[in-house]
Amino acid sequence: MNFSENSENPLSLSNAGRTTIKKTASLNGTGLHKGGKSEITFVPAEEPSGIRFVKTDVFPRQAIEAGLKNVIDTARGTSLGIGKHAIYTVEHVLSACMGLGIDDLDVEIRGDEIPAMDGSALPFSLALLGAGMKFKQNQPKKILNLSGKFEISIEKAKYKVKPSGSLQFSVTYEHPHKLIKKQTAEICLEKDDYVKEIAPARTFGFKSEIEELRKHGLALGGSLENAVVIDENCFLTSPGGLRFENEFARHKLLDLLGDLKLTGLSLRNLSVEASYTSHRTNVNFAKLLLERTGK
Ligand SMILES: [Zn+2]
Repeated sequence: MNFSENSENPLSLSNAGRTTIKKTASLNGTGLHKGGKSEITFVPAEEPSGIRFVKTDVFPRQAIEAGLKNVIDTARGTSLGIGKHAIYTVEHVLSACMGLGIDDLDVEIRGDEIPAMDGSALPFSLALLGAGMKFKQNQPKKILNLSGKFEISIEKAKYKVKPSGSLQFSVTYEHPHKLIKKQTAEICLEKDDYVKEIAPARTFGFKSEIEELRKHGLALGGSLENAVVIDENCFLTSPGGLRFENEFARHKLLDLLGDLKLTGLSLRNLSVEASYTSHRTNVNFAKLLLERTGK
């Protein structure tokens, strides 16, 4: 799937208006961390209501806006909640929305966690593209306007942001593991193909950490079907091996895009360089970015 072939990339259309999808699309599977079954349905949103997760297995239905104020947890994933209702691991769906330039969408969910699918954002991206893009010409996008450049360190992470002629991201992932060391992934969202370059990059974890994660109730649904496991001397994957030589950096970029979607604004004309990122630092960075733009 390539945007340039069908000219449907909303990010390259300057006045396309807010974007939703044309029809519903459903996916189901097992959550990565909680391990429960769940089903999600992408539903077009006619109003400029942003991205919302809607729990449909409770009465009354509970909508949870994908906004920074609703973030309840950032350990190994980004989770949203209101009151006693929570939706875990929302970042890959949000990344697909960011990559495809979708502004308004209801993500109905039966269950507590977004299904992990193959550990990437590809199944979500393909389902959304399959539903078709709908441009709402009379509803302008809200753009995040940054007045100057800034650099910020949050824990070990570093973020460098500056105004740019296009929207581009560069994320570096470093780890002392002998098979990783340092890798960088880059994308210009208006020109490059998110679906081909970033969406397929999968979640990864270290074999040595998995037991500890499980003790904390995380990675319970994890398997080689939905994650790349890094062992001492090799990568354990589903058949086919790594999808990219720098798959880990690409996945870090995928996660950053998802977490930045929580600003609720469209990003434009911005260059972001990041390293040592985690969901916790991404969410804090997104808050700072919003403060800097005064939105
Ligand atoms: Zn991820």
